[in-house]
Amino acid sequence: MTRGIDARIEKLDVAAYAIPTDFPEADGTLAWNSTTMVVAEATAGGVRSIGYSYADSATARLIRDLLASIVIGRDAMDVPASWEAMVHAIRNLGRPGIVSMAIAAVDSALWDLKARLLDISLVTLLGAVRESVPIYGSGGFTSYPIARLQEQLGGWIAAGIPRVKMKIGSHPSDDIDRVRAARDAIGPVSQAALFVDANGAYSRKQALAQAEAFAAYDVTWFEEPVSSDDLEGLRVIRDRAPNGMEIAAGEYGYDLWYFRRMLDAGAVDVLQADASRCAGISNFLRVGALCDARSLALSAHTAPSLHAHPCCALASVRHLEYFHDHERIEHMLFDGALAPIGGALRPDRARPGFGLELKQQDAERWRVPL
Ligand SMILES: [Mg+2]
Repeated sequence: MTRGIDARIEKLDVAAYAIPTDFPEADGTLAWNSTTMVVAEATAGGVRSIGYSYADSATARLIRDLLASIVIGRDAMDVPASWEAMVHAIRNLGRPGIVSMAIAAVDSALWDLKARLLDISLVTLLGAVRESVPIYGSGGFTSYPIARLQEQLGGWIAAGIPRVKMKIGSHPSDDIDRVRAARDAIGPVSQAALFVDANGAYSRKQALAQAEAFAAYDVTWFEEPVSSDDLEGLRVIRDRAPNGMEIAAGEYGYDLWYFRRMLDAGAVDVLQADASRCAGISNFLRVGALCDARSLALSAHTAPSLHAHPCCALASVRHLEYFHDHERIEHMLFDGALAPIGGALRPDRARPGFGLELKQQDAERWRVPL
């Protein structure tokens, strides 16, 4: 006789919701007016769970048309077996991009399901190394007028979040003025760390020149100064950046080999990874181990409600990106979305799984037909 929970995955539902931004948003290489959340809900043993990704609605169709049939009938306790089966099934579709985001939504729903079946929080299931994860406020879009930029970044500092990130690179000639305005709004480096993210907008030499200029405003984090595909370029900028300025990248990583290549190249001071892209919590945990093996820190990219639990379970995690666009959507669509306290997110161990419940009625108006 086996002990423990005996529950097969009975059902996997999926929906996509497109939510307009509260103001036009842009970074150095992209502009957008809405964000799509793909929500997967798994059912087993009378329990319903939730997982999600920020992805195109094509991701939801892939879950409905393929991944559901792969995981239904499997043991809800054996999340790695479902993960391996999904990765096996998509071989001919290509691993990066939409496919990995689809696996991510399902994988996170399965971790949530297992924790709910055990009636424990996800961080308790994973095993915590800390009770809360430091966050940084992230937004500062290049589409924002200076006043809005200052209000947003200054608001996070006033709310007790001592780290903020702004976008740069849409108009390189404006960047120094915007960085100066941001520093004016948030106060000195002793009370407010200032991060910048170019989303790969600069050339190598342009990035080096900007790095020197940003140092005058105590910028300590320069994310994707050049394309994250240019590993050699990232390495050059990392080697030559002013003292105290770290280079970060990794948000477009979908599989473990990607992160290994980035680390092998010595491309970053801090690795970034996104569990809603890199095939879920299962693979995010492995990225944490890769960082351990290099004595490098890991920073979680966006999706704060998804990352709070795994970030409290990984020693290598430094902080989590409290992204304006996503934290807004997560509070709109989920009961249980975490609010920052003292510049950190603290998972509620009294709630099972991620601690999230979809506000079905509120979400309905944003639903996208599949
Ligand atoms: Mg970024």
